[in-house]
Amino acid sequence: FLSHSLQAKMSRPVQARRLEGIDKNIWVEFVKLAATYSKVNLGQGFPDFPPPDFLTEALTRALGGGNHMLHQYTRAFGHPPLVKVLAQFFEKLLGRDLDPMTNVMVTVGAYQALFCCFQALVDEGDEVIIIEPFFDCYEPMVKMAGGTPVFVPLRPNPPKDGKWMSSADWQLDPAELASKFSERTKAIVLNSPNNPLGKVFSRGELGLIAELCVKHDVLCISDEVYEWLVYDGKQHIRMASLQGMWDRTVIIGSAGKTFSVTGWKVGWVVGPDRLLQHLRTVHQNSVYHCATIAQEAVAQGFQRELMLYGKPESYFVQLPKELQEKRDWLVQSLDGVGMKPIIPEGTYFLVADISQFKSDVPDVPNSDEPYDYRFAKWMVKNKGLAAIPLSAFYSEAHKNNYTNFIRFCFAKEEATLKAANDILQKWKQEKTS
Ligand code: PMP
Repeated sequence: FLSHSLQAKMSRPVQARRLEGIDKNIWVEFVKLAATYSKVNLGQGFPDFPPPDFLTEALTRALGGGNHMLHQYTRAFGHPPLVKVLAQFFEKLLGRDLDPMTNVMVTVGAYQALFCCFQALVDEGDEVIIIEPFFDCYEPMVKMAGGTPVFVPLRPNPPKDGKWMSSADWQLDPAELASKFSERTKAIVLNSPNNPLGKVFSRGELGLIAELCVKHDVLCISDEVYEWLVYDGKQHIRMASLQGMWDRTVIIGSAGKTFSVTGWKVGWVVGPDRLLQHLRTVHQNSVYHCATIAQEAVAQGFQRELMLYGKPESYFVQLPKELQEKRDWLVQSLDGVGMKPIIPEGTYFLVADISQFKSDVPDVPNSDEPYDYRFAKWMVKNKGLAAIPLSAFYSEAHKNNYTNFIRFCFAKEEATLKAANDILQKWKQEKTS
């Protein structure tokens, strides 16, 4: 019996081939480091302030309001009140009629929306263009679908006034971008406003991408989760509103970012039925649907925002105002200690140049760890301040060109940002004394 059970030990490889090379994940390591060492965590992107009262009240009402069916399954592709109000909202934003049942689908966060896109639209051997720096999950998701990611970097131009750089100074080289399109290209992933830089793509930049998409018959997966977080009077322009793009674009959004409830994991896609029908196939055969009660509360949140659209009381007007102030505080704090901030036009992230700090961070002999990783680890361990190395948002081939930056998240309470400022001020005094 014993020898039989020994023989029964599995020896064949268990891991599916599609997981090869995608097992590493920056967040596992840096979330753990932040939890262990940080006094102030400006690393992972989530607000530490409460969501708006109207939203938590909507959730409480949904829980206690006597409709016990809100605890049961709802429609697989989206709770009807939510898809209806999303359709109404996006009709306004896009200036076209939308069918809530076929042009909208609710997902488990924008993350699952992305997963559905790649699984439904990318085949073995297809190429998918990804603009660097990028939200890190795009690359493994393309690979899991059997596709090949093709990277094209935003290239930094020196700032004109010689002082702070803006995320707008990071631009695509039009010839380089065009060279990445071929008959193998199935899709391009666009993330505007962009995580991690905070870049908000201009109409001209979007027009260039749109032209190439039309010319080469390519899809656009448009990750717009930070659509409301745009500063200094800038405007978020929707790729799907450009000529020829509606028919080939999937818009992705997130209640997590929109209403400051990242833990609810409610996301959505908006697009033409001819694309969404395939996303529905992936969704119904994997996740089926996302928590009914959270969808109900998000639907009520959108109803309120629809009523107050463009008015000063609207959360979509108030949140960016508050975040812009927070951005400006963090800019001042970082500048004080000599970390040169790149002013973000959108999102709640800010990238700063740390090239002046090389003498602070001890060299690790024989380590091939990039400087920004070593810096971020050293900073959280020695200063108690957590941030994320920028090279984590680049492909293996390009990451060594971008190791002088780290990313901070400023969606934080005043007290958190003050505590970060105290750390930076103290650090500055130590440096100068
Ligand atoms: N896209 C981008 C660009 C993001 O930054 C994030 C979250 N950090 C997501 C998608 C995922 O959003 P969700 O939390 O709704 O899944």
